[in-house]
Order: sequence, then C-alpha cells, then structure tokens
Amino acid sequence: MNIGKKKKVVIIGAGPAGLAAAYEFLRQDQLSKFKIEIYEMDSQVGGLAKTLYYKGYRFDLGGHRFYTKFPEINNFYKNFLKRDMLVRKRLSRIYYDKKFYNYPLLASNALKNLGIKKSIKIILSWIKRQFNKYKDEFTFDQWVANRFGDELFKIFFKSYTEKVWGIKTSKLSADWAAQRIQNFTLSKAILNALFQFNTGSKTIIKKFYYPKYGPGMLYERIKSLLEKNNVKIFLNHEITGFNLSANNVGSINIQDNLKKKIKKVKTDVIVSTMPFDKLVSYLNPPKNVKVQISKLKFRNFIAVNLIVKSNPFPDQWIYIHDPNVKVGRIQNFKNWSPFMIKEGKKNTAIGMEYFSSEGDDLWQMADEEIINLAKQEIEEIGLIQKNDIEDAFVCRARNAYPIYDFNYQIPLKAAKNFISKFSQIYPCGRGGLFRYNNQDHSILAGFYTARNIIAGKIVNDVWGLNESDNYLEEKTKKS
Ligand SMILES: Cc1cc2nc3c(=O)[nH]c(=O)nc-3n(C[C@H](O)[C@H](O)[C@H](O)COP(=O)(O)OP(=O)(O)OC[C@H]3O[C@@H](n4cnc5c(N)ncnc54)[C@H](O)[C@@H]3O)c2cc1C
Repeated sequence: MNIGKKKKVVIIGAGPAGLAAAYEFLRQDQLSKFKIEIYEMDSQVGGLAKTLYYKGYRFDLGGHRFYTKFPEINNFYKNFLKRDMLVRKRLSRIYYDKKFYNYPLLASNALKNLGIKKSIKIILSWIKRQFNKYKDEFTFDQWVANRFGDELFKIFFKSYTEKVWGIKTSKLSADWAAQRIQNFTLSKAILNALFQFNTGSKTIIKKFYYPKYGPGMLYERIKSLLEKNNVKIFLNHEITGFNLSANNVGSINIQDNLKKKIKKVKTDVIVSTMPFDKLVSYLNPPKNVKVQISKLKFRNFIAVNLIVKSNPFPDQWIYIHDPNVKVGRIQNFKNWSPFMIKEGKKNTAIGMEYFSSEGDDLWQMADEEIINLAKQEIEEIGLIQKNDIEDAFVCRARNAYPIYDFNYQIPLKAAKNFISKFSQIYPCGRGGLFRYNNQDHSILAGFYTARNIIAGKIVNDVWGLNESDNYLEEKTKKS
C-alpha cells in the first residue's frame, strides 16, 4: 500500500529492537520514502529494558548493564545518553548455603566460605573430569562439567540455572552455556580469584555503563526523537491477528487495549518483535508447523519491587543459589544509580526476581501472595527485615526468556522455513527471533532490519546475529 510514494512499515513492539529499526529509517533520512508506525501493547516504551516509575522510585526488570562489543552500538548509547551515562563499579555476590560469595570469585573469600576440604574436592573433581571429559557437549551440565568439574557445577551453576529456566540442566541445550559463559574456565576463575587480573575473559569485568535513570531513559529519548520527526507510536495497542490472502498480509488487526476497539491497518511491510511463535501462529500455518511452534517455549519473569527504609547492602545484585527459596536474584537499584531513588531519601528500591512458566504455581499467585513470599524470603536470607519494607508492587513480563531446550533448533528451523514465504514480514529482536539477545543485539537487529528493507534485499543477516560471533559481552555464567 503506497501512501503517495511512501511505503508503509508497521513495527510491532516499541522495545529496543522496534525503536532501533524506526530510528535507522530516520538516521538514513528515509522518512520521505517510508511511513513508519509503531504499535506497542504496553503503556510505555522499552520492552523488557523499560524502567518502571513508582512513587518517585525507579526499577528495571532486572538490572540492565550496558556493554557491547559493537562500536556502532557503543556510539549509539553515548550519542543518546551523553553525560547521563554513568560508569559503575560492579559489586555482585552469590548467596549459597547461607553464605555470601564474592562474584567474580575472590580467593580468600571463596576459601573461607567453602573451607579447605570442599575447595580440594572441587579441584579434584575438575582434574577427574579432565581425564574423562564428555565427548559430546549437548547439554548445559555436560558443557559446564567439562570446564569446571562436577563439584563446582553443583555449587555455582545448577540451582540458579534451574530457577531461571524451570528445567533440569540436563535438558537445557549447551548453546546457552556456550553463548553466556564462553571461554571462562576453572583455571581462569582461579587465576582471577588469586591475583585479580583479567585472563581474557569478560566474566571479570569490574565496571559497566548504566544510564542515570535506568535503561528506560534511553528508550524514552528515542521515542521523543521519533515523535518529533512524525513517526507515530501507538501505546496500549496490541496486534491481535492478520488478514491474509495467500502469502500476503492484507491488513493487521490492532486492538486499542484502553478503548477495547479493534481497527484494521493496511501495510506494505511488517517488522515484528513480538514472540516468534505468536507471529507464526497469526499466519495460518499448516498443522505440522503448528505442532513445531508449540515446542518453542518462553519463560516468564516476575519482579517483586520493594521500597525499603534504608540501604542494607552494598551490591548491585546478588544471585540466590539457595534452592530452599524461590527468588533467583535480588537487585538494589540505589547501587546501580543513586538517581533511581527519590531525591533526598535514605531508602532504596529493591527488585526481587522470580522466574516462572505460564500457569505454574508462582504465575498463578495473586500479587499480594507473591509479595508476602518475597518479604519472607528476603528476611530468611538475612538481607532485610520485613518491618523495614515500606511499600511493594509486582511487575510481570511474559515471554522474557526463549528456552533453549536441547531440541529447540528443530522447531525454530521449521518455523523459519515457513515464514520465509512471507516476503513482507521481517522478524526482529529477542522474542521476535527466539534468540537470547541482550539490548545491543536487539538494537543491531533493528538497524539490520531497517537496512534490509531500505535496500529491498537482505544485506545483513539478522538471524545470524549473536549466533556464531565471538560473543564478547561480560561472559558470565549468569543470566
Ligand atoms: C531480567 C532481565 C535482565 C536483563 N539484563 C540485561 C542486561 O543486563 N543487559 C542487556 O543488554 N540486556 C539485558 N536483558 C535483555 C534485554 O532486556 C533485551 O535484550 C531487550 O529488551 C530485547 O529487546 P526487544 O525489542 O528485542 O524485545 P522486547 O524488549 O521484548 O520488546 C518487544 C516489545 O514488543 C511488544 N509486543 C509484544 N507482542 C506485541 C503485540 N502483539 N502487539 C504489540 N506489541 C507487542 C512488547 O510489549 C515489548 O515492548 C535482560 C532481560 C531480562 C528479562
């Protein structure tokens, strides 16, 4: 559908990927050729990287570090944030067996917590595994045990990973470990723990960038710039289906979630950052593809956000490996940036992270119940007394983590194959590509997608992004 001479592009989702795609049209001075509209079901922009504002306090969905190996993305961050980009010194720990371990590991602290006996057991188990390595590294536990030994795997990898993914590490693909941990090994961990120098692994990076008011500030700035240039961004607008004729989307059904009204919108091109399985299901796939996409699963995320009287611990975040509590990670946003807290207040803003699946016990809990659980757990861990919590609220995010079980590549391939028939449609972003992307990958995917549309052919491989490249983000065993 040409508007005058303009081609219409509908972007589904105003997260990092969707906004970046729109920005690339603007940056390349293409708004005279393309009419861009963005539809976002949420009431604010930023997607999973949004920052919530509550009674003068700010909370991320999980703290969002800004790091990237792509100079283009670094420049992009700096260009938008300038002096509002803070450099933060990292402090994070692991809570396990009622003790706090510095992370990255510190030899004296690790030895003190583990004791000589357990430390020797860890080293011996590593040596043993070196003589009997798994030949095939299909699963997460095989991949980690080969590099860290079985004993360390049990202490520092198993329980947290199972909380995040909700499946046994023996059912999780090694792809995730390879993407996240990469070339970090026990010997490097020990060298760093002893001498505190970087052996080439980014796991031990001690500083990171963070915007003064959280990541949401970047996305609000992009939104303002786009709107100044007449790009329309419709918040609270959800794509609910497509009207198809053969392999062409005639129009899109869009529901205004506030007015509960549906409109039909015609378009030439669709950039979709909504979950990939959802996109495929809107395209009337044949039965075999339907079966395949039902195997692509996501993990949901629940943040229980607390306003606490004082600032009780120095970390930005603490990983909770203790299997006796459900919480996976605890964020302290004042330590990310003091500007996240209401001016002049001694309080802090805490985010307790829970990982869940649609319909499981946690997901079904009422907000009040899950707040009570969080209060109880943070007291049990010994970080905060219940009475010091002044206020609390819950934020839920569906489809936060694409689950790499060890067969996920098969249904993904089938769905990709099917969707390639629709030349109008450009899947993009984290959920959109079913790829465990960070902000930088999603932003780059947005740029690439816009470039492909502008060129009228594939000049950049969006699917290949963050797949085979030497992933240089802080390579950590954590999500
Ligand atoms: C707990 C957690 C911690 C993280 N920490 C970091 C970190 O430290 N550093 C980092 O760089 N990255 C981090 N990330 C990853 C980062 O949040 C994502 O990479 C990024 O947000 C992905 O952007 P996206 O635009 O691809 O997808 P999303 O952020 O998921 O955005 C997609 C958008 O599409 C909208 N949408 C979906 N369906 C529809 C529909 N039908 N109609 C209209 N709109 C729709 C959604 O509401 C959403 O706004 C973290 C993620 C999580 C969950």
